[in-house]
Amino acid sequence: MVIRKLTGTNQQFTIGKIVCLARNYAEHARELGNETPAAPVLFMKPASSVIGDGDTVRIPDYSQECHYEVELAVLIGLQACKVAEDRALEHVAGYGVAIDMTLRDVQNQLKAKGLPWEIAKGFDTSCPLSDFVPAGQVPDSQNLKLTLSVNGEMRQDGCTSDMIHNVTRIVSHISGIFTLEPGDVILTGTPAGVGQVRGGDVMEAGIESVGRITIPVQ
Ligand code: MG
Repeated sequence: MVIRKLTGTNQQFTIGKIVCLARNYAEHARELGNETPAAPVLFMKPASSVIGDGDTVRIPDYSQECHYEVELAVLIGLQACKVAEDRALEHVAGYGVAIDMTLRDVQNQLKAKGLPWEIAKGFDTSCPLSDFVPAGQVPDSQNLKLTLSVNGEMRQDGCTSDMIHNVTRIVSHISGIFTLEPGDVILTGTPAGVGQVRGGDVMEAGIESVGRITIPVQ
């Protein structure tokens, strides 16, 4: 079981499914040569992919190109099934920092063949994830600076205001397909600046008002 705390409270959650958005920032969709989608593009990572602050990402031997993607993580606190947009945020318990580790070479090969991406996205250690800050302590989840540096050098420097689909719409949309349960997490997509890490690198990901994680790569 993977547990995450809601900081400053005595609440903790067992992490369930992790539903992720692809191409939710236009600049990032462009840098990978993808079209900007009308509806959110969704995939999942298993809870077994989660690691914590200070834990190590281990690049699988079937990949030569592992990328980082810093993302705002949304923790679900109440069951959400077919929730309207105006009730969506009532189901959000908190916000955290995640890195959606992606085997870009493997993903590109699978995409070209029309095959699912799981082995490029859901491998062990592919989801570094912080604890969560209560939603009430985050003044505006759509105006948070998010950054990722590798070995102290800034690589991603974005803002959640640039999301194509905002958290409200994302929670409502996903809840119409997959019932969201307490402990489920949504990764809301990454801004531009994604790139490769190699063994020996150290990533530092941070989101304003939310938190920061330091993750070495092996
Ligand atoms: Mg991503």
